Amino acid sequence: MSTAVVQSEPIQAPVATYKAAVVHDFHAPLTVEQVAPPALEPGQVRVKVEASGLCHTDIHAAHGDWPIKPSPPFIPGHEGVGTVVETADGVTEVAVGERVAMPWLGYACGVCDHCVSGWETLCLEQKNMGYSIDGGFGEYAVAYGRYVVKVPDLIDPFDAAPLTCAGVTTYKAVKVAGTRSSNVVAVFGVGGLGHLAIQYAAIAGGRVIAVDIHDEKLELARELGAEFTINAAKQDPVEAIQRLGGANQAIALAVSPRAFEQAYGSLRRGGTLVFVALPADNEVKLPIFETVLNGINVVGSIVGTRADLREVFALHAAGRTHVIRETRALDEVNEAIADVEAGRVAARIVFEL
Ligand code: NAD
Ligand code: ZN
Ligand code: ZN
Repeated sequence: MSTAVVQSEPIQAPVATYKAAVVHDFHAPLTVEQVAPPALEPGQVRVKVEASGLCHTDIHAAHGDWPIKPSPPFIPGHEGVGTVVETADGVTEVAVGERVAMPWLGYACGVCDHCVSGWETLCLEQKNMGYSIDGGFGEYAVAYGRYVVKVPDLIDPFDAAPLTCAGVTTYKAVKVAGTRSSNVVAVFGVGGLGHLAIQYAAIAGGRVIAVDIHDEKLELARELGAEFTINAAKQDPVEAIQRLGGANQAIALAVSPRAFEQAYGSLRRGGTLVFVALPADNEVKLPIFETVLNGINVVGSIVGTRADLREVFALHAAGRTHVIRETRALDEVNEAIADVEAGRVAARIVFEL
C-alpha cells in the first residue's frame, strides 16, 4: 500500500466565489471584491485563510514602487496563515486540516545552486506570494505544498501571520549580521519588522539601540528589550550612537534612504550594515574611503528560508518572542495601509478573514 501521496477530498464544499482585496491599478485604492477560486495545479494546496498580516512590502506592491513590478490585477499578502482544505496531485508535504503559513517565497526550483545550498531565497525561478502569484489577502489562497510551512499548534494564527514575513526576515537579518553576545546592534525602524528584530538581536546576545521617529514606537522598543532608544526626528542618531561607542551591526528597516545612511554612520570599525527595507527611492550615498579604511561590511538580506521560519516558530512556541499586532477586517484594507504609512500602527496589522 502506498503511503506517499494522500490525495484528499476537500473538507468542505468548494465555494463559487470568495472575498479578496485586489490591486487593479498602482495609483488607485485596492478593491475588496468577490473572486473565483482558481483550479489547483499539481503540487498546489488551497488554504482557508484565518489571519493575514499587512507588511510594508504589500504597500510597495500595491503602489508599484520597485524596479520589478507585479502585474495587476493581483491579490497582495505574504503573511497568510490558515488551514489546508484541498490538495492537488503530488502534494506530500502537508495534508488537509493542517495549519500552514504562506510566506513571500511561494515557490523555488529546488535544484539550482542557490536552492541546494540553503539559499532558496536567491533562486532565480522563485515565485512570490502576493507579488508574482496571488497572496493571502483573501478568504482563500492557493500555495505550493512544498513551500508552505506548518504552524505549530501552540502558536496563535494571529501571531503566526507577522512571524511569516516580519519574523523570518529579521531573524535572518540578525543571522546575516553575525550578531554575537555583547555586540551592540542598532535597529533603524521599529515597525512590523523592527519590533521583532529587537527581540532576535537580544536573543543572539546583542545589546540593542532602537531608532525611530515616533516616541510610542521607542517606548515599545524599550518594553521589548532595547537598552537605548533614539528619536531620529529630534536627535542625530549617528552622533548619539557614536557617543555610545558605535554599533557592531546596524539593521536598516526604515523605509527611508536617509535612515540607511545614518545606520552606516552609526557603525564602529569592522561593523556590518544590513540592508533590509526597500524604499521606493532606490539609492543611498555611501563613502568609499571610509568603507575601505574602516573595514565596513554592507550586505543585503532577503526574507528567510523555510528552515529559518521553522526556527522562528519554534522560538515563539517556546515563549521567547512577543508579537505586537492588532486585528482589522479586510474591508478596511485601504485605511490600514494609510495607517501604516503614517506610522499610526503600534507594530503590525493582521486582517481577520
Ligand atoms: P513599517 O512601516 O511597519 O515600519 C517602518 C518603521 O520605520 C516605522 O516604525 C517608521 O516609523 C520607521 N521610520 C520611518 N522613517 C524613519 C526614519 N527616517 N528613521 C527611523 N525610523 C523611521 O514597515 P515594515 O513592514 O516593518 O517594513 C519595513 C521595510 O522592510 C519595507 O520597505 C518593506 O518592504 C521591507 N521588507 C523587506 C524584506 C526583506 O526581505 N528584505 C522583508 C519584509 C519587508
Ligand atoms: Zn513582508
Ligand atoms: Zn532554485
